Amino acid sequence: MLKSIALGAGIGLLAFLAVNRVDIWPLVFVLALVGVFYASAMTGRVNLTSGPGRQASLPGIEFSDIGGQNTAKSELQEALQALRRPHAYAALGIRPLKGILLTGPPGTGKTLLAKAAARYTESAFLFASGSEFVEMYAGVGAQRVRQLFHAARSSAKKQGRGSAIIFIDEIEVMAGRRGQHQSHLEYDQTLNQLLVEMDGMTPQEDVQVLVMAATNRVDLLDQALMRPGRFDRVVRVDLPDREGRRRILELHTRNKPLGPDVELEAVAQETFGFSGAHLESVCNEAAILALREEKATIGMAHFKAAVDKVMLGEKSDRRLREQEIRRVAVHEGGHALVSEWLAPGSVSSVTIAPRGMALGFVRHVPAEDRLLETEAELRHDICVCLAGSAAERLLLGEASTGAANDFEKAWEIARRIIFAGLSELGIVQEEAVSTDVLYQTVHHIMDQERDRVNGFLEGHAHLLEALAGRLAAQETLEGDSVRNLIAEGEIA
Ligand code: ATP
Repeated sequence: MLKSIALGAGIGLLAFLAVNRVDIWPLVFVLALVGVFYASAMTGRVNLTSGPGRQASLPGIEFSDIGGQNTAKSELQEALQALRRPHAYAALGIRPLKGILLTGPPGTGKTLLAKAAARYTESAFLFASGSEFVEMYAGVGAQRVRQLFHAARSSAKKQGRGSAIIFIDEIEVMAGRRGQHQSHLEYDQTLNQLLVEMDGMTPQEDVQVLVMAATNRVDLLDQALMRPGRFDRVVRVDLPDREGRRRILELHTRNKPLGPDVELEAVAQETFGFSGAHLESVCNEAAILALREEKATIGMAHFKAAVDKVMLGEKSDRRLREQEIRRVAVHEGGHALVSEWLAPGSVSSVTIAPRGMALGFVRHVPAEDRLLETEAELRHDICVCLAGSAAERLLLGEASTGAANDFEKAWEIARRIIFAGLSELGIVQEEAVSTDVLYQTVHHIMDQERDRVNGFLEGHAHLLEALAGRLAAQETLEGDSVRNLIAEGEIA
């Protein structure tokens, strides 16, 4: 309204001056400049409340749409009772919860949980990312925090809701420890404003605001944020276990036609360490592969190929030279043979088709999710890592640079053995072990395992030769083919 009156008055004034033969162009120029400046300032402000990804209406996600995460879901639902039953809480004088922090690796469903929380409590939902509050200019971040809280209250009122949930993803970007950033004044002001807003939230307001935030670096957060009365609930959102993975796969295949051979349980078993986002991608990739083959349903082979793709990247069209094919086949054959020797049934497939950065790879079947590992299991893993280069040395006379990554992994496992107190050093503290002693001990472990692997491969060179030959010819072998070949070779 005010804007229209000002605009009308301005145009009238310009017309009056023009009629009276006053030169109006300098004035028009100045007004145009002011207009541009005002518009750009407004764009910055509007950005906060209507920028991409922001959502003020009720999200369509429910807790039942989130697979696994049972502990996180029930902890969260319990904490959300304050918004669902405000009167019961008030009657007992319970201070309502102001903040809930979701912590855990990327892609595990933290954003989904926040959206489901908004639906569960029928709250207005506002989404922001920590990086949106970080600006070079002092005061801008703090102003955006104020606007965000204001927008949360007003959109809840507009939608006729009694509560609003503000979700801040990657909160560590705006709420890291104060005094540590180069432009620390700006960071500190932004965080201070967040603390002020949270402290100002009272049960008496007509709109109850709950701040939910997510991070995978809880160690970086300012301690003031974690004190009781601010984010006093921390909900851990971990990578899903096997059951959780199966459930997530079920959810993401609800809208997809699956072939009769598909066993999601088996896919779940092979995807240890995958997050929900990885699993969603596996389902999507499997469907894309089925479409590429013009199939009406998605089969188990599509899922297997999709797992490889998500784990290692797209098949590359790098063409290997003849000698390279033989070398990669010997290398991967070595890994597969030693893996089957130490843990029969452990190879899911082995291939020499280049994919991502890898020229070939062995896919293992994790029998169970391994949360604890014994010394023997870790030493087995080192043997499997060392087997590729040992096989090359045995059949081709020398090893190649292809084993660098294997050695890195083996080195890391040996360090784990040492710092878990499982090596000859006994129980040690990381800081108390000198680089020299660490180096010697890792070497000792490596030497022991390399001798073991060399001994085994020398005694089974004929099997290695047969496996490498079959791999070079067929490119990919399933675990069962590897085991059949070993069984035939051993009888012969
Ligand atoms: P980041 O920390 O990277 O922001 P996040 O933990 O917030 O990740 P989300 O954004 O919630 O992860 O999940 C990304 C996608 O992964 C979702 O859109 C969904 O498709 C899938 N996803 C992740 N976890 C689950 C789950 N538990 N159940 C079903 N789908 C999931």
